[in-house]
Amino acid sequence: MAGSRVLGIESTAHTASVGIVSPGRDGRPRVLSNRSAVWRPPEGGIHPREAANAHAEALPGLIREALREAKVAAGDLSAVAFAQGPGLGPCLRTGASAARALALTAGVPLVGVNHCVAHLEVGRALLGCEDPVLLYASGGNTQVIAFAGGRYRVFGETLDIGVGNMLDKFGREAGLPFPAGPAIEGLASRGSKLLPLPYSVKGMDVAYSGMLTAALQMRRDGERMEDIAFSIQEVAFAMLVEVAERAMAHVGRDELLLGGGVAANARLVEMAGTMTRERGAESFVPERRFCVDNGAMIAVLGAMMLGAGVTTPVGESAVRQRFRTDEVEVSWR
Ligand code: AMP
Ligand code: MG
Repeated sequence: MAGSRVLGIESTAHTASVGIVSPGRDGRPRVLSNRSAVWRPPEGGIHPREAANAHAEALPGLIREALREAKVAAGDLSAVAFAQGPGLGPCLRTGASAARALALTAGVPLVGVNHCVAHLEVGRALLGCEDPVLLYASGGNTQVIAFAGGRYRVFGETLDIGVGNMLDKFGREAGLPFPAGPAIEGLASRGSKLLPLPYSVKGMDVAYSGMLTAALQMRRDGERMEDIAFSIQEVAFAMLVEVAERAMAHVGRDELLLGGGVAANARLVEMAGTMTRERGAESFVPERRFCVDNGAMIAVLGAMMLGAGVTTPVGESAVRQRFRTDEVEVSWR
C-alpha cells in the first residue's frame, strides 16, 4: 500500500514500545521508528499491575517520540496495530486502550495482532527468509512455530516456564542483575565443566523448572557459578535446538529464524548455526532490537494484515491473554 504508515503498540509484558513502519521500495517494510521503555521490577518477578501502570505513563511519550522520529502526523497514519495477546492482562489492556484512543483520534482502523506471530513475521519481512521455522525463546514464551496448513502452528513449546524466565529466576536467587540472561552469558564464557542438569524434552515439548531446581541445588553444593551458567546454557539451548531441528525435518523447511530476547545469546545463535549448517539449511537472527519485544514487529504484522483487508472493530478489540498462535486466521500469505 503506497504511502501507508502503520503504527504498532507492544505491551504484552515488561516492555512498552511503539514502532512505525512503511513499505520500502524493495517490498520490505522500512522501520521509521521504534521506541521502547522496559519496566524492571525493583525486586522479584513482574508484577502485572505495576508494569501496566508504568506502561500507562510511558506510552503517550513513546507515541509522540515515535511519530516525531518517523516525521509522521497521527492523522497520516493508515492504521494503529496493537498486541492483542498473549500476555499479562493489565499490560495488554493498557496498550489496547492507548491504541483505541489513538485510532479514534486519528480516524483510522485498529488492527489487533498476535504477539508470537509478530515475532515470526518481523523476521520474514526484514531478513527475507521465506517460510522459516521460528524458535521463539523469550522470558514468558518458548515455542517452535511454523506455517502449515494455512495457519501458524506450535510444534513444540515449554510445558512450564519460558527459557528466559528460567534464566531470570536462577539469576534472582543467585543475586544476578535482572534480566539475568546477559549476566549468565558472561559467566558461562568463563565456565567449562558440564554439570549433569536434567535434559527435559518430552515429545516436541521442553520443560525448565527441573533444571532451575537442580541448578540452584548445585549452587548450594558449592559448584562454581561459571560452570553452572555454562551448563545451563549448554543443556537448555541443546533442548531448544533439538526440538527446532525436529520441527524443520517434520515440515520440510530449510530456514530457521530466531526470535525473543534469548536469541541475543551468542551461544544459542552458534548452536542454531551449527545445526542448520549440518542440515544444509540456513539460520536467520534479527538485530537485537527486533528480537526483543518491540513495537515495530507489531506494526509490521499490522501492515500485512491491513494489506489483506483485516482490521479489528473496536467492539472486537478486547485483549486475549491466552491468544494462541494457532487461533490466528492467516489471510495475508
Ligand atoms: P523478551 O521476553 O523477549 O523481551 O526477552 C527477555 C528475556 O531475554 C529475559 O528473560 C532475558 O534474561 C533474556 N535475555 C536477554 N539477553 C540475553 C542473553 N544475552 N542471553 C540469554 N538470555 C537473554
Ligand atoms: Mg516476545
